[in-house]
Order: sequence, then structure tokens, then C-alpha cells
Amino acid sequence: MTLRPLPGLQAARLEDAPRYPGCVLRLACRACGWERGYDVGKIINRLHHLRDGGFTTPVADVARSVKRPCPKCKGKDWVTEFAYPERLDEREAKRLAGRYRN
Ligand SMILES: [Zn+2]
Repeated sequence: MTLRPLPGLQAARLEDAPRYPGCVLRLACRACGWERGYDVGKIINRLHHLRDGGFTTPVADVARSVKRPCPKCKGKDWVTEFAYPERLDEREAKRLAGRYRN
């Protein structure tokens, strides 16, 4: 899955996710570029469970709570940010295409 990070949200908190419908939490390896998108609600639940944060946790700080190494390069230099899945683009493209057709 290709993810498109949302720009300008360095200071965003997890609770801001509803402002960006369809967005996911992108976990990316700074070293090799491996990435995966996670459901923001599940991340909040997980942080609560670990007593490591929750709704008000800055998105960029979630990276610190990731203890496991990168599945590709075994590195631990994580980046977390809000991103849109690529498929949202396709849907948007179809919607726009339909609009121009009519
Ligand atoms: Zn990696």
C-alpha cells in the first residue's frame, strides 16, 4: 500500500484524525523506507493499553512507542505521521472523472 503523508501536520495529535477522513497513521522506517498504515483508533487504544499516551499524543511521538525493529532492515529509526492511503486517490479520481463527464 502506498501512503501519501499529509503535509504540515508535524504538531498534530492523534485526536485530530477525524478532521482528515480516511487518514491512517503511517509508520515508516527512516533507514530503508518500509512503511505501513495503521488505523488511528486502534493506535489510540494500544497506547491507552500500554499507558503510553492516547488521544492527545502528538502523532510524531508515536514513533517512540514502537519497540519492534523494522521487518526489512532491522533498524529502529521510526517516523510516524498522518497519511492518506493511495486508494483514496483512485476513488477521488473516479469521482472527479464522473463530474467532468456530466
Ligand atoms: Zn527499515
